Amino acid sequence: MVTLKTLREIEIMRRSGKITAQVLTSLMKAVRPGMATAELDRLAEQGIRERGGLPTFKGYQGFPGSVCLSVNDEVVHGIPGSRVLQAGDLLSIDIGTTLEGYVSDSAVTLPVGTVSKAAQRLLEVTQESLMVGIAQMQPGNHVGDIGAAIQAHAEAHGYGVVRELVGHGVGRAMHEEPQVPNYGRPGTGMELRAGLVLAIEPMITQGGPEVRILKDGWTVVTADGKLAAHFEHTIAVTQDGPKILTLRDYAEHPTIEPYRPSEEVIA
Ligand code: MG
Ligand code: MG
Repeated sequence: MVTLKTLREIEIMRRSGKITAQVLTSLMKAVRPGMATAELDRLAEQGIRERGGLPTFKGYQGFPGSVCLSVNDEVVHGIPGSRVLQAGDLLSIDIGTTLEGYVSDSAVTLPVGTVSKAAQRLLEVTQESLMVGIAQMQPGNHVGDIGAAIQAHAEAHGYGVVRELVGHGVGRAMHEEPQVPNYGRPGTGMELRAGLVLAIEPMITQGGPEVRILKDGWTVVTADGKLAAHFEHTIAVTQDGPKILTLRDYAEHPTIEPYRPSEEVIA
């Protein structure tokens, strides 16, 4: 069942999203080579709780961390632990906050130290793919328009689009209807209406789109071992177009500042 949110609910989700954005920004600033992922997890939980939120992921279907931290060929759902970040790694941080019963969900992938030009390009194109998908979130468009735009942008650059994991409705639960694939055909699927809140989250790979799950039961990796990137925002469809509820202050993390204009236009 798809639930449309009232303006009051969207306002709560905007406050939830602000916590998510603030804590994500603080984590991005804290990342450095030599750091164990467990330390970032600790900072995430502390940051969310001291702002009055709850870490949505903690205990979700038994997930042990407060954030998902996925490195290099890990696509999503990496478990924080003793792994030490190395210069040249790509790190995906996926974070969710529950505030007054409403969830916000957001992710970025960022370089640890200096990464290869090819890796940097993967980050850029994945973030661009998120933004072109969000731009389709106009009332009267369809869910398929979002996925088609993401897929076209990623594949134009020769990248793979993961099929097994998708974006989703978000609200009182982290995963609500509808599912929002990162691929598809324009004009297909559910019609978008004001009040719909979606988490859009392209998962883009340097090689093929196939993935598998590690023995820990959580970590999703690329089947061919190539790099993956993941960007996500929680966005409300409004009469005035899409409103990003997890928008970050770009001045605080210059590593991906080049993409600021497109996000500002949509926000
Ligand atoms: Mg997420
Ligand atoms: Mg999500």
